[in-house]
Amino acid sequence: MLAQTSGIRYGKINISITRMVKRMARGKKIYDGKAKTLFKGTEPGTLIQYFKDDATAYNAQKHDIISGKGVLNNRLSEFFMNGLNDMGIPTHFIKRLNMREQLIRSVEIIPLEVVVRNYAAGSMSDRLGIKEGTHLPRPIVEFYYKDDKLNDPMVTEEHAIAFNWATQTELDEMIAISLRVNDFISGIMKGVGITLVDFKIEIGRVFENEYQGLIIADEISPDSCRLWDIKTGERLDKDVFRKDLGNLKDAYTEVAKRLGVL
Ligand code: 5GP
Repeated sequence: MLAQTSGIRYGKINISITRMVKRMARGKKIYDGKAKTLFKGTEPGTLIQYFKDDATAYNAQKHDIISGKGVLNNRLSEFFMNGLNDMGIPTHFIKRLNMREQLIRSVEIIPLEVVVRNYAAGSMSDRLGIKEGTHLPRPIVEFYYKDDKLNDPMVTEEHAIAFNWATQTELDEMIAISLRVNDFISGIMKGVGITLVDFKIEIGRVFENEYQGLIIADEISPDSCRLWDIKTGERLDKDVFRKDLGNLKDAYTEVAKRLGVL
């Protein structure tokens, strides 16, 4: 009430109070990541995920602000997560709130990044000397331990079980989920002339009083996938930034346009 009265009298104050009220609706900041910030949500068990314009690579040694990237990734992640939810592959996504924010379910993140590869590229090519672009005989699933200080090292299921990061049952389910995500996104991408070379997802545990199961968390966007134009091989993902191949925003906009998201 007081805020509204002040706002009517003083234009500038009105703007800052409006901002304050909007921020208050988000709740307390609980995590500030490289490309996203998480705030407490309005309902119990929810969070608000804010997509920033920050682009980072090589464990944040390379950093830039790409104006509009957060808006594009918010929309693209909404698109993929909605599609997965519709197919019965549960994700943390509840609804998009605005250009940069989405309401998500709070999860207990399993500290493993799951990477699925259809073609050799990136760290697989570096590690195993397999030429980039080689079609793999079958999709290959890898686990990486989420730890920036260690540069997210690749780990085996044995490590994950021995160090209590996940149980064997959870690992089996994580592999099954990741392969379904691979089928789904590969198909959609192929339909718009793009090859899904590889991608990374994160998975979390959900609880409703008791442990309920696993759902997909974080984001699915060109920040976390390798996407190559089928005809030209043009890179339409974060490698454009990592390797200075052109304009990152144009690449992500192209993906969004082809998917009918823009
Ligand atoms: P690579 O292991 O070849 O560097 O990455 C494999 C795939 O996982 C690529 O699509 C890459 O974008 C994604 N990926 C791996 N680690 C990360 C990470 O820490 N953050 C993001 N956004 N994507 C990752």
